Amino acid sequence: MAKGALENAVWDAEAKAKNVPLWRLLGGTRDKIPCGVSIGIQDSHEQLLDKISTELDAGYQRIKVKVKPGWDVDVLSKIRQRWPNITLSCDANSAYTLQDIDHLKRFEEFKLLMIEQPLWNDDFYFHATLQQQMQTAVCLDEAIENARDAQAALELGSCRIINIKVGRVGGFSEAIAVHNVAEKFNVPVWCGGMLESGLGRSHNIALSTLPNFKLPGDVSASKRYWKEDVIEPEVTVGSDGFIPIKDVPGTGYKLREDQIEKITVKKEILRK
Ligand SMILES: [Mg+2]
Repeated sequence: MAKGALENAVWDAEAKAKNVPLWRLLGGTRDKIPCGVSIGIQDSHEQLLDKISTELDAGYQRIKVKVKPGWDVDVLSKIRQRWPNITLSCDANSAYTLQDIDHLKRFEEFKLLMIEQPLWNDDFYFHATLQQQMQTAVCLDEAIENARDAQAALELGSCRIINIKVGRVGGFSEAIAVHNVAEKFNVPVWCGGMLESGLGRSHNIALSTLPNFKLPGDVSASKRYWKEDVIEPEVTVGSDGFIPIKDVPGTGYKLREDQIEKITVKKEILRK
């Protein structure tokens, strides 16, 4: 992730130096990107349903809920009863093992867009076993750390969708490489979120304009996570559930250095 931060800073600087939009430099083609949200485990089912309702009202195109044993089939069933037609995914963050295969098959009836990383975070083989036995697409997140992982997973048939997080794969170059491998296999990707501040968020937006980012990502508005963001303008999502892409040099968002200074807790200057 540290490498990713430095590498992305270089891409960002290059875009500014060349006076081109960062998204064009990365090879992007979209003029707007579709947005979804990820909602964690809540204190109660009612609380979760309320949150989903708020996010749908805000225009988000895809709802993803976290699941784990004891918080899955009942929850998904309640969501589907209330919203039979929304685009719904779930993310297990490795909460299951292959012994749960019959239980995981019960998820099929909820017509999920995908089930994300159901098994071990470093596994391709058993995900392939699971994917063979399920109609619902398996999406890999944590298991994909680079393009070689993506190639191995797709050759094995471990998933039908890949989540790309720029930090997880170590920067834009590897993110693009994973994107390209998936495209070769005709497997769509989407951009995962890691609670980025506006700076990382603006990079996720730029990356999401690449052609194989065909599914709504976890890239959402600044205000979902921040009282005050470190960029201006803040990232906002339209009522249509899209973030429009700006055709201006760099990221299209300006860093608020005063705000960064205000919230900095430690500073270290490295000199050669
Ligand atoms: Mg995930």
